[in-house]
Amino acid sequence: MPETFKAILVSRDAEKKQSVTVTDLTEADLMEGDVTVAVEATTVNYKDGLAITGKAPVVRRWPLVPGIDFAGTVISSSHPDWRAGDKVILNGWGVGETHFGAFAGRARVKGDWLVPLPQGISAHDAMAVGTAGYTAMLCVMALERHGILPDRGPVVVTGAAGGVGSVAVSILSSLGYHVIASTGRNAESPYLINLGAAEVISRDELAQPSKPLAKERWAGGVDAVGSHTLANVLSMTSYGGAVAACGLAGGMDLPTSVAPFILRGVSLLGIDSVMAPKAVRLEAWRRIGTDLDLHKLASLSTTIGFDGIIDAARDIVDGKIRGRVVVDM
Ligand code: NDP
Repeated sequence: MPETFKAILVSRDAEKKQSVTVTDLTEADLMEGDVTVAVEATTVNYKDGLAITGKAPVVRRWPLVPGIDFAGTVISSSHPDWRAGDKVILNGWGVGETHFGAFAGRARVKGDWLVPLPQGISAHDAMAVGTAGYTAMLCVMALERHGILPDRGPVVVTGAAGGVGSVAVSILSSLGYHVIASTGRNAESPYLINLGAAEVISRDELAQPSKPLAKERWAGGVDAVGSHTLANVLSMTSYGGAVAACGLAGGMDLPTSVAPFILRGVSLLGIDSVMAPKAVRLEAWRRIGTDLDLHKLASLSTTIGFDGIIDAARDIVDGKIRGRVVVDM
């Protein structure tokens, strides 16, 4: 009998009604790829919540094992870069969207999609970072490339108590930035200050339709929310500043004007983690190894088991999850 492992499967019926089940699979059920990995840790990202609840069309192949990122150990490989025993991380590349993903005991993927687990970081820690944290690092790197360094002034982080936000606050404060954290959960102020936020502001301050230009408040920011929030962040960015936009937790629209761009020379930096080239990924994970305080990482993450994934997926789309959720498989 082939060995079985547990997996979450999202399916759709003839009326396109989505359902989610826990099932047993064997390696023969996995999709094509040149590396098979024993998944040791994964995580529940906002996108996983959308995939499992069906709230947005993340899943584009039916049925599908969701889960956009994992860390684990290579079991077998015909890819020249990887051999059995190697510790690896996967983020994105359509895994958990069009290719069977992380919410299973085994994953088979293309070796080109994998990066090595950085020295000194466990599979659990890598997933406490996860795609949300790796995206936060891509945002920080984009701000730095644009010259938004700590001496330029404060930076704002929206959706600060969420996954991207919590890691962004931690990294930026460790790098010496004055971080203004925007949250809709005022009760999370002590948590955000503990992560290094210098100030915490209410999400409401940024939630109304924006003016074309408002009082300059920050040199830049990391935005995980989109919609009016991003429009307000742009209108309050000081001359020559830049905002890294990576998320849509508040909406996919962007009701802004060209005023911040043409009158203040503000730049909007688009951040995509899914198809980011390998060199950029390697640099982001190297920086995570050096610039993210592992104690803070522990304080911003909670751990669940495989059986908790579906509930956590529902909670994250309801905005109820603080920081990052690690799944120890
Ligand atoms: P989380 O749910 O952990 O965090 C999102 C946070 O946004 C919430 O915690 C909340 O923060 C805030 N928020 C939620 N709903 C609203 C709302 N209606 N209005 C204003 N703020 C809101 O998700 P993640 O951190 O995992 O992901 C954040 C966003 O980034 C998502 O849209 C996700 O799809 C996107 N993303 C994009 C990637 C890319 O490659 N571009 C990669 C990874 C994520 P608070 O309670 O503090 O207000």
